[in-house]
Amino acid sequence: MHTLNLGDFELMAVSDGIYHLDGGAFFGVVPKLLWQKKTPADANNRVPVGLNSVVVRTGAHTVLIETGIGNKLPEKLIAIYGQPAQLLDGLSSAGLSPDDIDVVINTHLHFDHCGWNTIRRGDQHVATFPKARYYVQAGEWRHGRRQLERDAVSYMSANYDPLLANGQMQLLHGDQEIVPGISVKVFAGHTRHMQAVVVQSAQKTACYISDLIPTTAHLELTWGMAFDLFPLETIESRKRFYSRAIPEKWLTMFTHDPSVPWAYLTKDERGKPAIAR
Ligand SMILES: [Zn+2]
Repeated sequence: MHTLNLGDFELMAVSDGIYHLDGGAFFGVVPKLLWQKKTPADANNRVPVGLNSVVVRTGAHTVLIETGIGNKLPEKLIAIYGQPAQLLDGLSSAGLSPDDIDVVINTHLHFDHCGWNTIRRGDQHVATFPKARYYVQAGEWRHGRRQLERDAVSYMSANYDPLLANGQMQLLHGDQEIVPGISVKVFAGHTRHMQAVVVQSAQKTACYISDLIPTTAHLELTWGMAFDLFPLETIESRKRFYSRAIPEKWLTMFTHDPSVPWAYLTKDERGKPAIAR
């Protein structure tokens, strides 16, 4: 388990496990000759993909950023991606029960980011974190509900609609503070309304940048995923992120990196974003 103090806050990286995506889809238009040097593929061209959640303890609140794939994936998708379902065990090893979480933030509603929002109980879906308020952008929820051909498979209403129905989930309209020291910031590209989570305490800043920069292998501006709905906006949003994160020394938290949940960024000798060592 990775833990770190950020100002007066405590950060804990907790994983829902590793799943698998097609390497070509994960690296978009980047040729395999280039990406396989950073992320080797298996015999089926799949690469291992992490499912990193982060718990932030502020002293006043225990905030869970992202909830992985969960345990409700249909058989058809389990056969393709796998379903590690480790998040609750990880939280428990960190001494946290679902009752301890009082805020859940979803960066967007693709099934690999909000799967543990709910669990099945009989023929109902109920909150996994019964005492939590859940937050996502209204535009993201509206987009998922439209079930467009391009990405309908990524949206499973059981992950969020029961929480809207019972009043636990709140839909946001743009950048906003959620609790003191934790706010959300919209970065379009992967989806139009994906939100990053910015954590600030005692002059220190961390940012869970989610699928805008899913792993440390995706730092280059043009190394976007094929899943991105607005690839040109991904590039612009990355520029906007780096223009603050690098000079202001933000800790960047990576949603899908299988081994590096967070890192500080710098520019390499060619001026490209790189991990600070
Ligand atoms: Zn996504």
